[in-house]
Amino acid sequence: MDLYGTNNMQNMVNMFSFPQQNHQSPSRQKPDDNYSYIKIPLLGRVRCIKDKNGMMCLLFVYIYWIYGTWASVYIVLLPAYNDGHVSSFFIYFYLSVALLCLGSLIRASTLNPGRLPNIDDLQIIEGEEWTFCPTCNRKRPPRAHHCRRCRQCVTRMDHHCPWINNCVGEENHYAFILLLLYAFLLGLLSFIICMMHFWVLPRCVSCDREVFYIKHSIWFMYLLTILGLNMALVMGVQFFSQHLNVLIDRTILQNMQSMPEEGSVKVRDTFKAYKDLFGTNAVVCWLLPCRRRKTRPVYIQHPV
Ligand SMILES: [Zn+2]
Ligand SMILES: [Zn+2]
Repeated sequence: MDLYGTNNMQNMVNMFSFPQQNHQSPSRQKPDDNYSYIKIPLLGRVRCIKDKNGMMCLLFVYIYWIYGTWASVYIVLLPAYNDGHVSSFFIYFYLSVALLCLGSLIRASTLNPGRLPNIDDLQIIEGEEWTFCPTCNRKRPPRAHHCRRCRQCVTRMDHHCPWINNCVGEENHYAFILLLLYAFLLGLLSFIICMMHFWVLPRCVSCDREVFYIKHSIWFMYLLTILGLNMALVMGVQFFSQHLNVLIDRTILQNMQSMPEEGSVKVRDTFKAYKDLFGTNAVVCWLLPCRRRKTRPVYIQHPV
């Protein structure tokens, strides 16, 4: 199985065709076998894909975030603030980006990416190029794919991301793009903070030199520099490539299947493209991960 939850390209191509089997087969695979809801304090019931590797990846991402935020704040920003070299505004700004990044991670990893309901009403799909999923025996709209890790069909599936242990589909794509944006900003800020620590800020006067992490701060800072730079570069490239995909209205799976023919690519108006993605006109809401996407296709509203 590959990174995107599909076995190989041929399987992906096969997913587009109707199988020669009875659509009402009684041996239907339960599409919701592979996720459960767990209770987390403050967050309530959150959706979690039962994939051991995916959960390990997600745990690694949380540890990455905790280390980066802790090291930036406790080793550099707070001692520099106490010595009067950094304003409180900069600390609050850094913490705001870190919290928005964490919120986007929680949303992207726990939101339902757009699990396809079981649709029997033919009127809904009249005139559309719908196909049939041979795995979960469901009718599905164009660009819906079956994810073998999540064991479900996902509408407008972009890809399965192991780092958030979830599919990226129609309903959580906005949270995934916010995650890329905030992770890029957080990585960049952390790298800038490291550079300030090494080249700009004087040796701290007010801090307790016997505290373990201040005593060995050089190693913590080397690690933070590598992590911050890595995060900024990787997330920056990913965000830019997602931005291009949003503008030309294509998904990663579509690009893996076949690159667009010359002359067939239409670059959409940026505002319209992002309005479609975030589901609202209010630009300020685009930046908030903790909200629900307003625009939902008719087949998502249809009872499962
Ligand atoms: Zn399916
Ligand atoms: Zn998936």
